[in-house]
Amino acid sequence: MAKRFEGKVVLVTASATGIGLGISKRMAQEGANVIISSRNQKNVDQAVAEIKKEGLKAEGFVCHVGNKDHRDKLFKYIKDTFGRLDVLVLNAAVSTQFGSLFDTTEQQFDKTFDINVKAVFFMVKEYHTLMPAGSSILLISSYVGYQLDNTIGIYSLSKTTVLGLTKLLARELRDSQVRVNGIAPGLIRTKFAGALLEHEEVAKQKLDIDRVGEVEDIAGAASFLCSKDGSYVNGETIMVTGFISQRL
Ligand code: NAP
Repeated sequence: MAKRFEGKVVLVTASATGIGLGISKRMAQEGANVIISSRNQKNVDQAVAEIKKEGLKAEGFVCHVGNKDHRDKLFKYIKDTFGRLDVLVLNAAVSTQFGSLFDTTEQQFDKTFDINVKAVFFMVKEYHTLMPAGSSILLISSYVGYQLDNTIGIYSLSKTTVLGLTKLLARELRDSQVRVNGIAPGLIRTKFAGALLEHEEVAKQKLDIDRVGEVEDIAGAASFLCSKDGSYVNGETIMVTGFISQRL
């Protein structure tokens, strides 16, 4: 495997399981020192142990992305320990409501936008100051950000906002030579997609896909975008969906 992240410091939010862990493992396999973070210490410790078992480099730090105090502590830890950050992957998200759009409460609306949009914006605003020229930021949105879905209306709207945020942040950081790109995953086999995967064949038919994606499918695209191989890609979101397409 290529060692595109040798000597690089990588932070992936919500990386104790699922897509975040998949991206972390892949970048560690390519030489990175990866910082695993999520809300729960036990989950963080388990993920760090899993990566270290492969003889790879990983650290762990608890961070609920919606909690400014947690974000500040993690920032200080990275600054004091490494003095810089080369790759930042914003992967944390929540889906608070299922059903009719008009059944969404203010509390559900606020929580969704707090985690999926506001925390992403403030982490980039705070952490980019640790990132030297040539660094890379990756925002994880979703295919439903393009293909808005009324049954998960506020979640999909938050992911559409992430698509716009990716472009806006790329422009904002252009002069600092920090690239900002996105991945819009399709249906990926994780706990988050559990409800859809209970009826996997129905979901495959509805989405017109031949198979459900695996976290490794996202990890490969993430490594490309955040490495030198992706150095001419900026402000772009790649759909990694196994054919679900809403773009020409
Ligand atoms: P997952 O397997 O359920 O993993 C979620 C992870 O997030 C867990 O490690 C959890 O650990 C952590 N977490 C949850 N809330 C957090 C918070 N507020 N702060 C920090 N960490 C938090 O989910 P996933 O499928 O990998 O989803 C990752 C991203 O992909 C999300 O942005 C999601 O919207 C996007 N996505 C997923 C799919 C799919 O089909 N799976 C499709 C499109 C987009 P703790 O419990 O320890 O915090």
